[in-house]
Amino acid sequence: MNLILLGAPGSGKGTQAKKLQAKYKVLHISTGDMFRKTVEEKSALAEKLKNIMEKGKLVPDELVIDIVSKRLKADDCRQGFMLDGFPRTLAQGRALSGILNGNGIDFVLYIELSENEVVKRLSGRRLCSACKTGYHVVFQPPGKENICDKCGGSLFQRDDDKEDIIKHRLKVYNEETAPLIDYYLESGILRKVSGNGNIDKVFEQLCSVINDKH
Ligand code: AMP
Repeated sequence: MNLILLGAPGSGKGTQAKKLQAKYKVLHISTGDMFRKTVEEKSALAEKLKNIMEKGKLVPDELVIDIVSKRLKADDCRQGFMLDGFPRTLAQGRALSGILNGNGIDFVLYIELSENEVVKRLSGRRLCSACKTGYHVVFQPPGKENICDKCGGSLFQRDDDKEDIIKHRLKVYNEETAPLIDYYLESGILRKVSGNGNIDKVFEQLCSVINDKH
């Protein structure tokens, strides 16, 4: 089973991907996570990526497509994969179709959420610096302020989750990524679920879409 998770930043793609990976044993590939890892490793590329990401801009298509096409050739992708944060532009969507010879995606799971809700979620989002578990200062706070429940690591806010950057990311999403909704609607593989409600409620809807087919 090959899936794409589509939705605005903050719509819950990463959270749901982790739950779907646990339930369906489908490999979670997040380009954002891949880039953040590269940034931590310090290199010329890391500096370039850091500059782009902290401004809420998109990494150039050519670079993203190259990285994803290499990743999808790895053995662990043969059993299926779930793309989170890719494709993010029509050019990336078309390139993916080329990489997979046009017919490799079962579903595009589109998590729909209003812009107001997205801003609330992103601005309160915190991550564990050690195990990367996600929290939210209001909706999902840790037991002890700023400390990860799972591993005791300290929590931090992503640079691109600061308010002015969030606005820019949403603009980029509306201009560059949202056209993919129609693109996949036309190919008949888009399934829309509401991102409102708690994590389990959204997860249930995603599972019922997947279970309908399998
Ligand atoms: P995310 O964790 O998916 O919100 O991604 C964080 C940042 O990584 C984005 O704001 C972009 O700067 C970059 N990024 C991740 N995926 C892509 C992509 N498919 N195309 C371009 N830039 C990306």
